[in-house]
Amino acid sequence: MSLHKHHPQHEEKITDSAFDGGVGSIPRHRLPRHTQDADAALRFVQDELMLDGNARQNLATFVTTWMEPQAATLIQASLEKNIIDKDEYPRSAEIERRCVNILANLWNASTPAGGEDAIGCSTTGSSEAAMLAGMALKWRWRARREEAGANASKPNLVMGANVQVCWEKFARYWDVEARLVPLDGATHLTADQAAAACDENTIAVVAVLGSTFDGSYEPVAEIAAALDALQASTGLDIPLHVDAASGGFIAPFLDQELLWDFRLDRVKSINASGHKYGLVYPGVGWVVWRSSDDLPRELIFSVDYLGGSMPTFALNFSRPASQVIAQYYTLVRYGFDGYQRIQQRARDIATTIAQGVEKLGPFTLLSRGEELPVLAFKLTTPDGWDVYDLSHELRSFGWIVPAYPMPKGMADVDVLRVVVRNGFTFDLAEMFLADLAKSVARLSGQQQARVAFHH
Ligand SMILES: *Cc1c(COP(=O)(O)O)cnc(C)c1O
Repeated sequence: MSLHKHHPQHEEKITDSAFDGGVGSIPRHRLPRHTQDADAALRFVQDELMLDGNARQNLATFVTTWMEPQAATLIQASLEKNIIDKDEYPRSAEIERRCVNILANLWNASTPAGGEDAIGCSTTGSSEAAMLAGMALKWRWRARREEAGANASKPNLVMGANVQVCWEKFARYWDVEARLVPLDGATHLTADQAAAACDENTIAVVAVLGSTFDGSYEPVAEIAAALDALQASTGLDIPLHVDAASGGFIAPFLDQELLWDFRLDRVKSINASGHKYGLVYPGVGWVVWRSSDDLPRELIFSVDYLGGSMPTFALNFSRPASQVIAQYYTLVRYGFDGYQRIQQRARDIATTIAQGVEKLGPFTLLSRGEELPVLAFKLTTPDGWDVYDLSHELRSFGWIVPAYPMPKGMADVDVLRVVVRNGFTFDLAEMFLADLAKSVARLSGQQQARVAFHH
């Protein structure tokens, strides 16, 4: 089964042209019968990819679209290394371990051996990290229930309706009730709501540091305090997981006073996406546990058929070591200062865009780039056109700015979101604001013409 739509009229062949240098007819959905010339095949695939969007005008994605050429060199040079094969590639394994320790330290885990034996691993992204963290929470909850002789058949996970889809996936794939708390007054989960939704079957609360919908931070410390109070009054001891997919690489550099990480006793595990503000090309993520008590042993497999005996906790088996190596390069290359400078710049650009958007008039900001370098805004009073029309209009200038409804509890509010990443500049921000103003003028002009016509 293909998950992609088929276009039967294009299914069979592409045709020769004087330009294609002799690729000839290549079927698109079946293996070609004959071997192609390497350069011709390269051109054929490159031509197809040319029609992909321009990454620098893509204000939709959180994922890294630019790295230094030195990083690309390292990636290129390590593509053939398989991260699972720790016996053949012990230095790559060591580099993964160092990255885990660096992040555990950055997130204030106090590990016994002076920060050199943190519990964690790399993943393909925050989604896989969420599966691993979620499993650890489910297994621990079940063990506690069974030990107490209690029913362990109805686990639930408490989170805001604004969680990223990976948590709903986790719940469905691992048979856990997704207890999604509708938004009520805030654009994300609040402490009172989180505690009120918990019961003896709650495996954990997930707090998001940097909501995908508007870039706002959930109040992790307040949620932790509310869960402390819940424990004091009911005895329920509910662990807290922080989905810091984006914020895990922002808050440690820009919001050092903010308590969201292992400094809070209740936080048992944290995930982050190396390929978002970790500044690495896609596929790398991280998950770190507070201590080995928080990661049940039975989830860890020992693999010995590659030579040596290696512990592994992952959904995948083979995958390239290159992204982990690129992460290590980036950590070493930028250091604390570099990350701080890059993230501050992203935040400054985001807040500048937010001010510009506000000045344009018809918009109300839900967030202004002051937490994640992300802003979300809605139309204050719809005037014959909506954010979807505006998103479409911006597309004609090359800008990709998604429009979507907020989650349950605020689903009547439609927003546009702008994500600022490394590689975006003040110049580009100015161009974007100018094109936004033109788009608004066009839509309003069309609307006025329409009204005039009907009168
Ligand atoms: C992006 C994101 C995810 C999923 O991360 P991937 O690395 O793309 O798998 C999960 N949670 C949040 C809050 C995110 O922003």
